[in-house]
Amino acid sequence: MAATNNSSLGRVIQELCRLPGIGARSAERIAMHLLEADNREVMELAEAIGNLKKSVRHCSICFNLAQGEICSICAEANRDRSIICVVELPKDVMRIEATGAYKGLYHVLGGHIAPLDGVGPDKLNIDALLGRARELGIKEVIIATNPTVEGDGTALHISSLLEGAGVKITRLARGLASGAVIEYASKDTIAEAITGRQPLL
Ligand SMILES: [Zn+2]
Repeated sequence: MAATNNSSLGRVIQELCRLPGIGARSAERIAMHLLEADNREVMELAEAIGNLKKSVRHCSICFNLAQGEICSICAEANRDRSIICVVELPKDVMRIEATGAYKGLYHVLGGHIAPLDGVGPDKLNIDALLGRARELGIKEVIIATNPTVEGDGTALHISSLLEGAGVKITRLARGLASGAVIEYASKDTIAEAITGRQPLL
């Protein structure tokens, strides 16, 4: 590849390389594709990326990604509003939604407790969850943090805070291998883990 870092092409390759899962060769392939694609297609992509940060924010109820004040799931009329599924990140919501096995609400923590990385419980959206769990009509909180050391620790911490809130607390079934992350689990595995969820307390 003859492109230097300060040519337009080199610049695009450099930026693409910073994306997750894109190595140098893929970045080159994508950049060459864009160079040869028609103008409209490339401008549409650039515009969509430009608008991403402007229009996407966090839902004021569940902290999922949202276009407006609340996300599409919180706004959906026919969700089961008696169950809240607690996940680490918005991408976990997308994975669980893709299974079609769950019709309740969500709560996105924004990560997991990781003291070694300086992430204490105060850095996560836990207070908002405690408030929601105490709302009238909430019957169950499913803790769907990843089955990793940090995810399990976070689940335990949250369940101890929810004790006495008068809700059933469950954890995803162990169909998900220990150490696995929801993001990479198959749809079937996630669906089974939801259906077979176990009481945590
Ligand atoms: Zn929401």
